[in-house]
Amino acid sequence: MPAPYCGRFAPSPTGPLHAGSVAAALASWLDARAHQGRWLVRIEDIDLPRCPAGTDQIILQQLSALGLQPDAPPVRQSQRQTGYENALAQLKRDGWTYPCSCTRKELEQAWQAQGLAHTRHQERPYPGLCRAGVHQKLERSTRFHLEKFIENYKKIHSNQAQKAPFFIDSTHGLHWQDRRQGPQSQHPAQVCGDFLLRRADGLWAYQLAVVVDDADQGITHVVRGADLSDNTPRQLLLQAALGLPHPQYLHTPLVTLPNGEKLSKQHGAPAVDTQQPLATLLAAARFLGLPDPANHFSQICLSDALHHWVQAWRSLYNQ
Ligand code: GLU
Repeated sequence: MPAPYCGRFAPSPTGPLHAGSVAAALASWLDARAHQGRWLVRIEDIDLPRCPAGTDQIILQQLSALGLQPDAPPVRQSQRQTGYENALAQLKRDGWTYPCSCTRKELEQAWQAQGLAHTRHQERPYPGLCRAGVHQKLERSTRFHLEKFIENYKKIHSNQAQKAPFFIDSTHGLHWQDRRQGPQSQHPAQVCGDFLLRRADGLWAYQLAVVVDDADQGITHVVRGADLSDNTPRQLLLQAALGLPHPQYLHTPLVTLPNGEKLSKQHGAPAVDTQQPLATLLAAARFLGLPDPANHFSQICLSDALHHWVQAWRSLYNQ
């Protein structure tokens, strides 16, 4: 029997919800309701210095004003250190990690030598400087030994089925299914390389925290913005390394500015107006390609609109 559906919305409380994060919240809520499943909220305040006090409460109030109520009290990453410590200890014990001494400056020099210039949109793979040891230098952070894990995974899963949840081909390309975007591929070694698990400032890396939390909360379906799609292979690999179940993934279309840039807090996206919850949800629903309920009701209320979109979502994504 498959685990009962459990979805989540996982905002980082670096600022109030904007049009993009409302679309992600609405999509994950609709998917949960369309499956008659549970919907949870997780406050991703792992990077506490970047989370102004009280922003989590503002986000929860905004969700409530929009009629998106979680089925359990929200979980906070800042209170989940033990889970991350245990997961890292397990990965270390199994030989999938190594310490790294690289400073930003050393990394930048290595990337420059490879001709990899810094761009805001492009991640650069870790150049592997500490893979063979830190040689008496200070251990600053901890990385996931990507190639070593992939080699081992391929050996164990030599007759892997070429479908769910993911498979790795002979060139170490990782292939997975996205419920909206269809078949996806990435070469993690070329995108991120040996990615961080614990940062030099002592903070937990998003990849580790999200995988541990999704498993602890029993998340079966992840629905989030397409800007996070590139993280999915790292999360699938970490789940495999930790022996955790793999959720199904659906990445929603991104809400962009007229110039094509992603709408984000960093770019000063304004907080949504929750005094006008229906108008705010209508805009989010439009981004998600959902029909306008005004075509069906002359006078709609919030709950009618949400109900209408649950039906529409079901016909789009519930196979
Ligand atoms: N906290 C992340 C964000 O706000 C989302 C993480 C996730 O949904 O996996 O962008």
